[in-house]
Amino acid sequence: MAKKDIKSISYEELSDWIQKNNYKKFRADQIFSWLHEKNVVSFGQMKNVSKQIIQQLNTEFYINNIKIQKKLVSSIDDTVKYLCMLEDGECIESVVMEYAFGKTICISSQVGCKMGCSFCASGKAGYIRNLTTSEMLDQLYISQRDLNCSIGNIVLMGIGEPLDNYDNFIKFVKNVSDPKGRNLGLRHITVSTCGLVDKIDRLANENIPINLSISLHAPNDMIRKSIMPIAKKWSIDQLLSACRRYIEKTNRRITFEYACIDSVNVLDKHAIELAGRLKGMLCHVNLIPVNSISEESFKETENIQLNRFFDILKNKRIPVTIRRTLGQDINASCGQLRGNYLDV
Ligand code: SAH
Repeated sequence: MAKKDIKSISYEELSDWIQKNNYKKFRADQIFSWLHEKNVVSFGQMKNVSKQIIQQLNTEFYINNIKIQKKLVSSIDDTVKYLCMLEDGECIESVVMEYAFGKTICISSQVGCKMGCSFCASGKAGYIRNLTTSEMLDQLYISQRDLNCSIGNIVLMGIGEPLDNYDNFIKFVKNVSDPKGRNLGLRHITVSTCGLVDKIDRLANENIPINLSISLHAPNDMIRKSIMPIAKKWSIDQLLSACRRYIEKTNRRITFEYACIDSVNVLDKHAIELAGRLKGMLCHVNLIPVNSISEESFKETENIQLNRFFDILKNKRIPVTIRRTLGQDINASCGQLRGNYLDV
């Protein structure tokens, strides 16, 4: 029988296993806490768990561990980027950022990415595989251990499209927020998607109040299709309709991310068109100055144009902010993660 990845199973599944084997119910609490609060790397470290249970755990399960391969610290803003190696030798990156409200970790959800957005480094080497639930959790756990602190906010904005790895992403959210383990508040978790309409509808029905960000990046289909292949599958109207359904169902505000790319999507008329589409929606627009990646010659928008774009949206009563760029000197900014050694 193949061993099971124990950090990828839920508290309920662990509890069922404990009861099926006639152990006392509280054993599940102990084991779940060792895994998700104390982050042990082997069953032998579970000091208050009996030898017999540890032996059985060892025969039926394994603890997946990812390893820090390289750590870079920004000299500008103390952002930390980790390059981590997975058990099969694949690599991913995670970033820990410091905000006024505390530390936030940006987590990867896949090795590589299928989505092929032209401005993003994460998919340039193609797609390899989904991350497991435990590989997503481990990015948090090893960063907390390495920095010797608790990280209270998670954004699924690293490498990959989280909604393309839907089941593992949902299990990740459930495990990391489980009161028996890490107990991280759902409102401190944000998932970002390039716009998988069917999955946005599924998420609306999960009844998990996390934050949703949509990578919109364009005011119309023509521009969106020219930079994001996913726009050929779902039109901007279909995407925004799904967002409206999501808001209707969850009563939660959606953030639209908009990477400002000179000569592509930042003219005054684009701001006016965008404002028209988002009018009346419970939303917020986050303007991101585009970050450079080695494969593309996208130009960052001049501040003056970025501010004009901002002002147009603001005057049209669309809540808008400009995102502060962190970790630029270590290629840790939006769209710069790739998970190989090419970048720094
Ligand atoms: N696949 C998901 C998760 C990635 S989140 C998504 O698309 O939302 C990473 C965010 O950074 C996305 O909004 C992405 O569009 C944005 N991004 C990608 N490349 C960028 C770049 N070069 N400059 C600024 N933002 C970028």
